[in-house]
Amino acid sequence: MNRKDFYNYEIDFKTNNFNSFPHDIVSENELKLVNEILERKKSLNGDVVILSHHYQSKWIADIGDFVGDSFELSAKISKIDAKKIIFAGVHFMAESADILSREDQTIYLPNTLAGCPMADMATIGELENVWSQLTEVLPNKKIVPITYMNSTAEIKSFCGEHNGAVCTSSNAESVLKWAYSVGDVVLFLPDKNLGRNTATKMGIPQSEQIIYDFNEALGGHSESDIQKAKIILWNGFCHVHTYFAPDMVKSLKESGKKVTLLVHPESNPDVIALADGVGSTKYITEYIEKSELDETIVVGTEINLVYRMAQKFPNKKIVPLRKSLCPNMYRINIPLIHKAIMEFPVDMEIHVPENIKENAKKALERMLEIAK
Ligand code: SF4
Repeated sequence: MNRKDFYNYEIDFKTNNFNSFPHDIVSENELKLVNEILERKKSLNGDVVILSHHYQSKWIADIGDFVGDSFELSAKISKIDAKKIIFAGVHFMAESADILSREDQTIYLPNTLAGCPMADMATIGELENVWSQLTEVLPNKKIVPITYMNSTAEIKSFCGEHNGAVCTSSNAESVLKWAYSVGDVVLFLPDKNLGRNTATKMGIPQSEQIIYDFNEALGGHSESDIQKAKIILWNGFCHVHTYFAPDMVKSLKESGKKVTLLVHPESNPDVIALADGVGSTKYITEYIEKSELDETIVVGTEINLVYRMAQKFPNKKIVPLRKSLCPNMYRINIPLIHKAIMEFPVDMEIHVPENIKENAKKALERMLEIAK
């Protein structure tokens, strides 16, 4: 199967054709480049490390020295000896790596245009504006800003400066518990879904969760609604995960198969409510590793992770809820990683300005401390 066929592939739940998930999508030329990348890495004798995010394709994961979610990969940085780190992920991840790296390390992002639309949904100007509205309406409350890892360095810096923290999908609950131990109300950004799914899991009632639309006066709420809120959610989302919808689960259930449905917490709450398990990519991969051979597992997250899991465990039935591809992760490819490791081009370097780094680092280190 070639790459085009792979990305055009659709699961047919009606025929229960779960076994036809594709298994090979690399071209001859890519294979040659993969071998050259591995040779080059060997010749550099430990001075370069490739970090690959779970949402990368199989071959990019295979050439990675470490594969993980954004939390696992950022926690690795300070323990890596290599001075050159090639980050096969998106821009905000490479920024976090730079913030947590040593002075003698350089982070390379093979395509600096590989951004994240959700991270771009919260800009520092908008956040400063919302913050001043909230501090005016809540003069006697301590607001703790918590940002999902999937945000720009500037947003992380704001959270560090205002005694907040970063979180990821694997530690959002621990970070929120910490936030309520030091403050009264959380401003959670940019992903409203991770925020509300975590808040609901923690028992915070819907009536105390509000979605703040920064385009509207007071986010579209009355002062008294804001005063009652326990969590104020930024109106951002990930299109890769909000693509999953309840009718897809319905068609899955109608297929008559006995399945376990696992979904990522960036999905909409109405899908989360129908799932058998909800968690980060770490949770999903660990669940699959431990699952029984005869269990059919349907996964609602980025397609490359599902594909790689299906490949890794050919005797298990691992199926995507639907094919949802992150087009930003897709911007990192084998030829660009090849260029990065052969030339270490200056224009692939990621440098977060020093004035942003200091407070962003505080917010990231607070998360690492809480999640220990
Ligand atoms: S999967 Fe969603 S949140 Fe993650 S990088 Fe892609 S667009 Fe951003």
